[in-house]
Amino acid sequence: MSTFDQTHIWHPYAKVPNPASTYKVLSADGVYLNLDNDKRVVDGMSSWWSAIHGYNHPTLNKAVTTQLDRMSHVMFGGLTHEPAITLAQTLVELTPDNLTKVFFTDSGSVAVEVALKIALQYWHNKGQSDKHKFITIRGGYHGDTFGAMSVCDPDNGMHHLFSGVLPKHYFVKSPSMVAMDEALSDLEETLKAHSSNIAAMILEPVVQGAGGMRIYNPQYLIKAKTLCQQHQVLFILDEIATGFGRTGELFALEYVDVEPDILCLGKALTGGYMTLAATLTSDEISNTVGTLMHGPTFMANPLACSVANASIDLLLNSPWQDNIANIEAILNSELSSLRTEGNVADVRILGAIGVVELTHDIDIEKAQQLLIEQGVWLRPYGKLLYTMPPFIISKQELLSITTAIKMVIKQL
Ligand SMILES: *Cc1c(COP(=O)(O)O)cnc(C)c1O
Repeated sequence: MSTFDQTHIWHPYAKVPNPASTYKVLSADGVYLNLDNDKRVVDGMSSWWSAIHGYNHPTLNKAVTTQLDRMSHVMFGGLTHEPAITLAQTLVELTPDNLTKVFFTDSGSVAVEVALKIALQYWHNKGQSDKHKFITIRGGYHGDTFGAMSVCDPDNGMHHLFSGVLPKHYFVKSPSMVAMDEALSDLEETLKAHSSNIAAMILEPVVQGAGGMRIYNPQYLIKAKTLCQQHQVLFILDEIATGFGRTGELFALEYVDVEPDILCLGKALTGGYMTLAATLTSDEISNTVGTLMHGPTFMANPLACSVANASIDLLLNSPWQDNIANIEAILNSELSSLRTEGNVADVRILGAIGVVELTHDIDIEKAQQLLIEQGVWLRPYGKLLYTMPPFIISKQELLSITTAIKMVIKQL
C-alpha cells in the first residue's frame, strides 16, 4: 500500500485522514486485475458497470491507438469529427425512434445535468417557467454534481449533508420498495397536485443502482410515462448504469419499449476505457430548447468516441444475450440459496447483476481482505455485497466470485 496515496489522495466516498486500505493495480487483462502483492483477482465490479468486455482488449486498444495517431482531441465548438458523427448515428439507431438528437458530455453526472437543463429550458421556452421542479422515485442515484444530487434519494445518506443547499424536488414511492399500484397512486396524486411546477420525471429504468441496487417491475415505466404525459411532465430515463446489455436487454427500457423524452447514457458506453456520456432527446424537444448553454471542454472527445464505436460494435457482434443469460443462470443457481442464511435480508438477480443484501452494514475493509484472499475483487457498500461482472467472464471465473461471496458472508 502506498503511503503517499494514503496521506495525499482522496478516494471516492472514502474517509480522510486514516482512510481504509487501497490496493495498487499494476495492470489488468481479461477479467483480471493484477495487484502489486502478486495477487491476481477476478474483477466482479467491471470497474463500476463499465468494463463490459474486460480489460486490455486488443480491439479496443487498437481503436484508441489508431485514433491517437490522428488526433487525441479537438474542441467541439464549431468543429466536428468522424468518431462523434459515427457514434451519434449509432446511438440514434439503437435507441427508441423518437430520440434523434445527441448531446455528448464527459461524465454521467454531467449527462444528467444536461437532461435536467433541457427539461427546464423546454418549458421555459414554451412560456411555462413555473415548471422548474423535478419528480423522481425514492432509492435513485443519478450522480454527484448538484443537479444530479438533488434527484438522488434524499435519505440514503450519500448527499444529505448538502440537503440545505439543494433545490427541493418531489420524491415518490419506488416500485422497488412498495407494490407497483401503491407507487403509481403516489405518483398520480403528486402529479395531480403539483404538475404545474414539475418539468420532468427522472428515474433509472428497472434497476436502481448505487441508491440501493433494487429491481422493479418494468410495467411501472409504461404507466409512469402515461401519467407524465397526461400531466405535461417530461419523462427522463437514466440508463447510465443499465445501458449496453447489463440487464439482459440492450437498454432496460426495451423490457416494455417505453419511449423516454430524454435518455442519459454513460458508463459502459466506452467499454470502460474513457470517460464519455451522452444525452439524447427528440426533435420536438431540441427544437423548442434551441441553443443549450453547455459545452464541456472535452465534449465528444475523439479518443472516447472512437473506443465507444469499437465497444458497441464488439458488443453487437458478440453473443451478448447468451453471455448475459448464462451469467444470470449461474448467479441464480449459486446465490439464490443464500436467502435462507441468517444474516441475509434479500438476494436480487437480473441479467449480469447479482446482489446480496445483508441484515447489517458490511465492514468493507474486512470484506475486501477476505475477498482478495479468495482471488476476487468486489466493492461492497452499506448492507450490499454485489457483483456485475464483465460479460466475457467464464463459468469458472464467475463461480470463483459466487463462491467467495458465499464464504465471506458467513464471516461478516
Ligand atoms: C454512475 C451513475 C451516474 C453518474 O455517472 P458518473 O460518470 O459517475 O458521473 C448517473 N446515473 C446513474 C444511474 C449512474 O449509475
